[in-house]
Amino acid sequence: MQNNNTPYEKIHVLQEGIPAYEALERISKELEKDGLPNYDLGSYTAIEMPAEAKLLIQLTLGKNMINKNEYSQTTIIHERLVKIIGNLLHVPDENDICGSSTTGSSEAIFMALLAAKWRWKQNGNQGDPNLVLCSNAHISWHKSARFLDIQVREVPLHIVNEYPIEAVRASIDENTIGVVAVLGCTYVGFCDPIVQINEMLEAVNTQYGWDVGIHVDAAIGGFVYPFVAHLQKVRWDFRLPLVKSINLSGHKYGLVYPGLGWLLFRDQNCFPEELKTTAEYLYGVSKSFTVSFSRSSSLIIAQQFCFLHYGMNGYKNIIENCLWNAEILTEAIQKCNFLQLVSESTLPIVAFKFTEEPSFPLVIYTELLRKRKWMLPYYKLSGELEDTVMRIVIRKDMTLEMIFRLVEDLEECYKIVKNEYTT
Ligand SMILES: *Cc1c(COP(=O)(O)O)cnc(C)c1O
Repeated sequence: MQNNNTPYEKIHVLQEGIPAYEALERISKELEKDGLPNYDLGSYTAIEMPAEAKLLIQLTLGKNMINKNEYSQTTIIHERLVKIIGNLLHVPDENDICGSSTTGSSEAIFMALLAAKWRWKQNGNQGDPNLVLCSNAHISWHKSARFLDIQVREVPLHIVNEYPIEAVRASIDENTIGVVAVLGCTYVGFCDPIVQINEMLEAVNTQYGWDVGIHVDAAIGGFVYPFVAHLQKVRWDFRLPLVKSINLSGHKYGLVYPGLGWLLFRDQNCFPEELKTTAEYLYGVSKSFTVSFSRSSSLIIAQQFCFLHYGMNGYKNIIENCLWNAEILTEAIQKCNFLQLVSESTLPIVAFKFTEEPSFPLVIYTELLRKRKWMLPYYKLSGELEDTVMRIVIRKDMTLEMIFRLVEDLEECYKIVKNEYTT
């Protein structure tokens, strides 16, 4: 909408540019109005990387990863990372691997869904394809299914931390192209019982002669489970025979800045050849299967940096520290009698609600917290769940000192709002 009071430069490109230092100053000033990433309690994405990683990112920002010949070594690094991640996820054969980086889990999800639809079609099916998921699945599944004209059969959760396996079984039919399992629900952190889903599907497939597989949305848990001793034993990945594909967010617990995801298939057969774009390059033939074409290689290089610099033990220490801090926050919240925990997660995620329905709109509370810089997300749970929850994600950058300060503010702000609304 044209507004006569809007300064010219806000809706037009300036005729004459301004000096770089002035542009820097002006834009930085404007950006000060943003929230501070450290205080973003709801975000999963990494907000800080070591100086050496930043340097590598700077040095590689201009390299377009799609130019395989020009940047053949980058291509080799990319292929190497796919193998490293494949091995973390126990692919049956690292030489038969099929995977790629993406711009995030959502792009990976789109491609995985496309592949599932094609596999289903190649099996001679002709009806209208459907996808079975639960109400704890991320919104990007609904978005991709709509883009790809796939019917979504959403099975509602009635209890936050209980997977409705019988209702899932009942939703599957011959046109089901796959079942989505989440390793870490975005909203409360609950992890689906993937071993049981695999067993249930094996029985269904045997009974009806179908070939329904699992895609694991491990956007969050994919970079948590492989590093923590007691979670390493949990079979959720390619160790389970029906897991056909997995997505992970490199920019969440993969510890890389926003803009990086990973998509892995069990083997070459799981991704139809027809969907791959082939390009020859210096050291062989490269097959690409992402939506986007040009993309900077810098975040891929940053992922390589993390693997090299942290190693298994570094990731383990960082993630265990997040889990430890989440435990401390959980205990503190249990002590606040106006708050009640909603989920118990194996991931560093703490979701909670007010013990009693508050007499004030929740937004008043979160706005008061915002004045103290905290950005606390809240939302109504999906499906049959009525609760409105608040959620805190414990990231690498969140210190104990911050957590204690946060708990103090949660309490103080509650008192203030409550007083205002009872007098
Ligand atoms: C974050 C998230 C996504 C979307 O991933 P992006 O990496 O942000 O594109 C999908 N699924 C789950 C479970 C998530 O937590």
